[in-house]
Amino acid sequence: MSAIEGTRPRDGEARMPVEATPVEAIGGLVARARDAGFDHAARPLAERAGLLRALADAILADGEAIVALLEEETGKPAAEAWLHEVVPTADLGSWWSSQGPAHLATEAVRLDPLAYPGKRARVEVVPRGVVALITPWNFPVAIPLRTLFPALLAGNGVVWKPSEHTPRVAARVHGIVREVFGPDLVELVQGAGAQGAALVEADVDAVVFTGSVATGRKVGAAAGRALTPASLELGGKDAAVVLDDADLERTARGLLWAAMANAGQNCAGLERVYAVAEVAGPLKARLGELAGELVPGRDVGPLVTEAQLATVERHVREAVDGGAEVLAGGERLERGGRWFAPTVLAEVEPSSAALREETFGPVVVVQTVADEAAAVAAANDSRFGLTASVWTRDAARGEAVARRLRAGVVTVNNHAFTGAIPALPWGGVGETGFGVTNSPHALHALVRPRAVVVDGNARPELYWHPYDEALERLGKGMAALRGKGGPITKVRAVARLLGALRRRF
Ligand code: ADP
Repeated sequence: MSAIEGTRPRDGEARMPVEATPVEAIGGLVARARDAGFDHAARPLAERAGLLRALADAILADGEAIVALLEEETGKPAAEAWLHEVVPTADLGSWWSSQGPAHLATEAVRLDPLAYPGKRARVEVVPRGVVALITPWNFPVAIPLRTLFPALLAGNGVVWKPSEHTPRVAARVHGIVREVFGPDLVELVQGAGAQGAALVEADVDAVVFTGSVATGRKVGAAAGRALTPASLELGGKDAAVVLDDADLERTARGLLWAAMANAGQNCAGLERVYAVAEVAGPLKARLGELAGELVPGRDVGPLVTEAQLATVERHVREAVDGGAEVLAGGERLERGGRWFAPTVLAEVEPSSAALREETFGPVVVVQTVADEAAAVAAANDSRFGLTASVWTRDAARGEAVARRLRAGVVTVNNHAFTGAIPALPWGGVGETGFGVTNSPHALHALVRPRAVVVDGNARPELYWHPYDEALERLGKGMAALRGKGGPITKVRAVARLLGALRRRF
């Protein structure tokens, strides 16, 4: 049996390996989740909503243990672990349990009794079945829970494959889910790409994936081959536009948080700032100062993986070699583990990786631009488009500029904090993918509509065989009646219809 090895991001210490799920076992786990899902879907919606509240309570009650595992596996500061991973669970539980049921309710549809005599119709919202949930290491608790809550409310079974970099905290959360929902409804697959790929191909009914663009393409292709609906939420290269009337102190602090939270390992991490010439100088200076005051370990955690650290280092080195200004940081920190200094670069060569590829580290680039239009154009010049922000004292101007930004979430005078708000959709454009989490829009990946029609008409339908000339005239009459002719045309159409009807019966 293969094992998942790894070292701690904070100090590089080796950890006890975690057992990986054998690939051959995955089909059986999907089948168990499917069986358990049938029983779960049969529970009244109100009961499922109650279970969500119980799940949220249980996770909040286990916060200390979850935070300890997050520190062990990701190194993120405890404040971040509490605020970004544990606390949002409360809102997920209360929002989905109170607001979710309305979006899953059956809707009666009125059918025209003349055209469709004796018929009753409704639209039911049914679970897709088994959802394959594949998640990354940057928010190993918050990201899976964002999908688990609505997926379970909707009545699905779930097979969850967490990242191979965070198996322990995943196992802890999974244990809590089992206690609340019973043993088989949510199954856990531990492992890496092989297990993830096998899961996507294991007869699942939907795939919800959050991760890199490269892996997202593979998952999307595999799901496409199997004709399995897939929600893909991939990378980002978030931009902020700073206008001439921005409150520079608040802006600098907000931009810094958006760039450095989770050590920048956030698909909505702020990586590019376009500041108009009037304010660029003081903004750069203040950002550099504030970044220099951040304390690694307390304010900013390490990079979770060696590969990520190497990417960050490469982007910064290339930018600096290309002539960028270094306003803070710029290099690895030698303190054991995988640390990179909080870094602010400026005036980076536009084709450089630090402006074009996802850096996913504690690095932000500030570029001076001539004016608002240039800032918007530069912000939109990206393959990604998750979130974007505008900073200005003029709210109306901010909104107008925000609407011109190509992103799934736009904020004025703040950045990226809305991921924790279940009522607001979270998704993007371009290579960020088309997956949406949070809000009723997230349900699209997790449910399908089922039209149910019951026909109480005792007579054969008018339009059934055999076809004859009267039916043809009927068709012409109906088209004329529904078309945009004047009153005379309509009266003629009715007469023709009645005649045809008489002959038809
Ligand atoms: P990241 O390093 O950003 O987490 P990945 O996109 O590689 O990037 O990982 C996201 C998730 O996808 C992880 O759980 C990972 O194990 C899983 N994964 C990796 N390769 C595949 C694949 N080919 N098919 C399905 N899942 C995969």
